[in-house]
Amino acid sequence: MLVVKKFGGTSVADKDRIMNVARRCVADYKAGNDVVVVLSAMGKQTDVLIDMARSVNPNPPRRELDMLMTTGEQVSVAMMAMAMDSLGVPAVSLNAYQVAMHTTSVYGNARLKRIDTERIRNELDLKKIVIITGFQGVNKYDDYTTLGRGGSDTTAVALAAALHADKCEIYTDVEGVYTADPRIVPKARKLKEITYDEMLDLATLGAGVLHNRSVELAKKYGVKLVVRSSMSEAEGTVVKEVVKVERMLVSGVAADKNVTRVSVVGLEDRPGVAFRLFDALAKANINVDMILQSIGRDDTKDITFTIPRDMETDAINAIENIKDTLNMQDVKVNSHVAKVSIVGAGMMSNPGVAARMFECLYNANINIRMISTSEIRVTVLIDEKEVDKAMNVIHDMFGLED
Ligand code: ASP
Ligand code: MG
Repeated sequence: MLVVKKFGGTSVADKDRIMNVARRCVADYKAGNDVVVVLSAMGKQTDVLIDMARSVNPNPPRRELDMLMTTGEQVSVAMMAMAMDSLGVPAVSLNAYQVAMHTTSVYGNARLKRIDTERIRNELDLKKIVIITGFQGVNKYDDYTTLGRGGSDTTAVALAAALHADKCEIYTDVEGVYTADPRIVPKARKLKEITYDEMLDLATLGAGVLHNRSVELAKKYGVKLVVRSSMSEAEGTVVKEVVKVERMLVSGVAADKNVTRVSVVGLEDRPGVAFRLFDALAKANINVDMILQSIGRDDTKDITFTIPRDMETDAINAIENIKDTLNMQDVKVNSHVAKVSIVGAGMMSNPGVAARMFECLYNANINIRMISTSEIRVTVLIDEKEVDKAMNVIHDMFGLED
């Protein structure tokens, strides 16, 4: 059997944890499996590197930031190979360049395009454990790129797909996917299984446990994904196409605080205005999420939308640049908002779900600022300080506790 095992930063944060992971992988190897390991940077090393960059330049060039950040993963893979060697098992560490993991050119948010598997296969044939840097790739200029924060999950799933692995295990510091973040909702419960679609929404909406593109890839290539803890033997959560167990209406509640709301006020009410605004944002690589356009009055209209908070400066600059062609009156920014979402495949055939969510927010006296929905999701934008309360009342309302 070929397994890809990915370990996040906390699982390799210090020498004891590195040895723990090394032993787990060696056990798998000794059981006769081909083992490919993908690692994140040790502990909070990526944040440390970003702070270092900002200490010399508050707005570091993205290429150089990637050059710096990719060192984090390179440290952990080398450390792991040495740890395995100390256990008497042959292991080799490889970075994205050595493997040849080709990505698009956007620094800081590159997408994997193609992975050469030859070197990995050769090392596996030599009976080695192969340890690969997560999060990084190489673009057409032969420069290092990164896949966006949390991107090591995507590296692991992409490798599992490219190698036709039997499964891809994502090891983390929690025991699996929960109905809500247990640090915010004490009654949260671990799910045994979840569908790709639900997981994709939860990941995108801030569940934090998996990088959303990893789920997208897993669904596309049918990779069997398991999310489990590196500290315990507990079974974890299986992410797959169809879930057999009886369907819950709602499978999870997620919150995302990396949100800013932007209102462009007093735009001319004529064709092409929305296009020019969102085209400028797209060209600046800004992901726009919820969008609301007001009814036109006095030949003007307002457009309100949400963006990731860490893209706020870029977004404002992009809007400033087209200010004259757009003829707007004002731009208002609110960085104290957050998104709270419920996700569940069972929603598709149950029209009352959104209303129940709004009802419990009303009972808790929480004001809804924006709403968006899909077939299996309802998202509301609320004040950031009310997130914890909102998640708990919603979790109770849908009976998600044990
Ligand atoms: N080390 C990177 C990060 O902190 C990638 C990852 O952990 O998945 O975002
Ligand atoms: Mg992660």
